Amino acid sequence: MSGQLQHVDDDGPARCSFCQEPAAGPCASCERPVCGDCCTLTEGGVRVWAVCLECDRKKGRSLSGAWGGLVVWLVGILVVLAAATALMGWIAGR
Ligand SMILES: [Zn+2]
Ligand SMILES: [Zn+2]
Repeated sequence: MSGQLQHVDDDGPARCSFCQEPAAGPCASCERPVCGDCCTLTEGGVRVWAVCLECDRKKGRSLSGAWGGLVVWLVGILVVLAAATALMGWIAGR
């Protein structure tokens, strides 16, 4: 039967896009099936994402850059709050 190969593909488990191991799950970014060895767990925010090695390589820097910006932003807010608190205390103390 000519459709035999396609039939095998449909029935077989999803294969990793990088090696030929059975895939553990899809990449959170490109949704390619990846196995446990070919994906990285990224703790970015509330959920833990499993992204493939290629997406990890592509987005690793931009993600860390975004986090660096967020940290700077949070520190800025803390400094402003501390200054405001000190100012309020200074005004109240007069
Ligand atoms: Zn793999
Ligand atoms: Zn990916």
